[in-house]
Amino acid sequence: MARKVGIYTRISRDDEGDALGVARQQKDCERLSDLRAWQAVKVYEDNDVSAFKRNVVRDDFELMLKDLRAGLIDGIVAYDLDRLARQPRDLERLIEIFDERPRLEFATVTNDINLGTPDGRTMARIMVAFANKSSHDSSRRIRRKHLELAQQGRDSGGPAPYGWRKDDRTKVDPDAAAAIREAQREILAGVRIGTIRTRWQEQGLGNPRAGTKRMAHHHVEHILTSPRLVGYRTYHGEILYGENGQPVRGDWETINTVEEWEAVCAAVAERKQKRPGKFLARKYLLSGIARCGLCKNKIRGQNNPRWEPGSRAAKYTYQCSGVNGGCGKVSRTGEPIDKLIAQLVLEEQRERAAVTSVPIERRWPRDAELEEIEQDMAQLVEAERSKQISVATLLQLLPGKERARDELKLERARFYKEQKQAEAKENASDLSLDEFFALPIERQQEIVLHSLSAVIIHPAGRGRRKFDPSLIEPVWH
Ligand SMILES: [Zn+2]
Repeated sequence: MARKVGIYTRISRDDEGDALGVARQQKDCERLSDLRAWQAVKVYEDNDVSAFKRNVVRDDFELMLKDLRAGLIDGIVAYDLDRLARQPRDLERLIEIFDERPRLEFATVTNDINLGTPDGRTMARIMVAFANKSSHDSSRRIRRKHLELAQQGRDSGGPAPYGWRKDDRTKVDPDAAAAIREAQREILAGVRIGTIRTRWQEQGLGNPRAGTKRMAHHHVEHILTSPRLVGYRTYHGEILYGENGQPVRGDWETINTVEEWEAVCAAVAERKQKRPGKFLARKYLLSGIARCGLCKNKIRGQNNPRWEPGSRAAKYTYQCSGVNGGCGKVSRTGEPIDKLIAQLVLEEQRERAAVTSVPIERRWPRDAELEEIEQDMAQLVEAERSKQISVATLLQLLPGKERARDELKLERARFYKEQKQAEAKENASDLSLDEFFALPIERQQEIVLHSLSAVIIHPAGRGRRKFDPSLIEPVWH
């Protein structure tokens, strides 16, 4: 015999619009209990009551606890933990019953928690403790207002994000938008966010609020990857999806195409994965690229502490260091080597650009496939709505489609990321030497590594003072 469960729904006064209205919560819970082959025998409904106000008595919640204890129901289905219990006290009373009757069933639509297992109960305690801490009536009311606006695709108030005009946040600020696009090209070409942050701080870019000059790393990252750039509406940092399964579009001007934006997001995400934590900021062009002519160890740049502007001493040198197992015998003034290598590399890339044709911008070839899957999904959902198929059938078919869609989207992002990366790296060929040295150091290194795999610095004879280019050996790809 099917197990009998109760459905618990709740909407609070300051809940987030009607997105999770009681009717929808109930429908979702019924689907879920159908799927588990449980029998939903009773619906407990507390409407318009805030679960985190201590003194509020939730009548149906109390009734549900009683029914559970009495064995009238064998479990609970709720939308999420948030609807069910926001007060640690309520949660503990619920947990007590689950401890007493280990065979009780439990499920939430969002699958955020399972009170039926000891681990789930521990997790629930943590989640409720946090929710309890962050619940403030006023902030929730403001959020509700934001969600309403968001669902209509309308912009919320507040200061304009960087990229849009201060007097009208629906209009693009052309200078800021150009700075964002430039920084995105740099990201695709291998420049670190930290480097862009430093430059923006120097130039006073990125932060529309006056007075605060410093910007956090994540602030810059957000500016360059914000869904707002393509007009996607977000809510609590998540892209908001409409009824049709497509992102809700805002009514403001956009700065990126979806392809450009996805490429940047993919590049940022990839970099985080590859090298989590802090990046080593390099100061010298050939650090990690130059090698000692004697021992072939990697050579690093080294600052000369005695150097002053106008002095004839070397500003920095490339030195084979005994510390890292090198021979310690080769050392050379840095600047002329960098200049020589930059000249050679730019020359080589100019020649190469002259013989290879400009790459044609290609569309991702599987657009139609993705569109088809999305249509399939919409049709399935519609078929269930009009009772042509059961919920169970829908939920069997949907996950496979969702997986296929997500994989295709990921592939599309990678495709455009690689294309944009190639483009960003391509345009080095028309740089002047000064322009080259004005680029961030990672970008300079990328350009060098595009042509060279290493630079070997051969030892100079004793007493030789003049720079001898023949002792610098570029190793071409
Ligand atoms: Zn050496």
